[in-house]
Amino acid sequence: MIHCSKCRKTFLTLAGYRYHSNKTNSCVDPCDFDHTHDYINLSFESMEASQVCFESNEMDRSFVTRRSSSNQRLFICAQTTKDNIKDKRLKTNASRKTHDCPAKLFFKEASFCRCVSPVAGEKCELNRPSVQIRGCLQHSHPLERRNLRLSKAVKEDVVKLLEAGLTPNVIINKYHPAEKEDPASKPVTTGDVYSLVRRANLQGKNEGARKRDKF
Ligand SMILES: [Zn+2]
Ligand SMILES: [Zn+2]
Ligand SMILES: [Zn+2]
Ligand SMILES: [Zn+2]
Repeated sequence: MIHCSKCRKTFLTLAGYRYHSNKTNSCVDPCDFDHTHDYINLSFESMEASQVCFESNEMDRSFVTRRSSSNQRLFICAQTTKDNIKDKRLKTNASRKTHDCPAKLFFKEASFCRCVSPVAGEKCELNRPSVQIRGCLQHSHPLERRNLRLSKAVKEDVVKLLEAGLTPNVIINKYHPAEKEDPASKPVTTGDVYSLVRRANLQGKNEGARKRDKF
């Protein structure tokens, strides 16, 4: 295999590498929006590990899946009007403000070069399958709380607390208080907690808590 010294992608043939290196901007991140980019460039052992990073950083608050296959994933801004978004939920929800937003994350599983100091276009002596996350996290609009989604990490935490027998009031006030200083944080609402109760089938279990809470 032939490696690219800049982006560490590997190619089966020298012709493949030449095509890559001759193409303008093929190594750099594909964000052509006129703003201060917030590039992300991370490497993981597996798709699972990259997904864990995505979820633990609560990137799912503002990104949705656009395309997904076993070795590639594309996440785009949840509020973008770019492309013809097939997700009807996003398209038809009139209350949701939409923007021409370029923010996106691209996950790619491939054999990447691990040579210590690769020389451009030479035979790659050390490469391993791994997953790269690349993209630009910079939105073209402010992240407004009302448009953010509740992340999977927070949802799972709320369900855990509910299962431990805590009441929605305690969960919201003590464990997930609204951080007023950070407008990009997504506060957990009573409605969120109850929809999680319903979804996690905790209805019977939390009946007592529901009465004590007096909503
Ligand atoms: Zn390259
Ligand atoms: Zn950008
Ligand atoms: Zn290499
Ligand atoms: Zn955006």
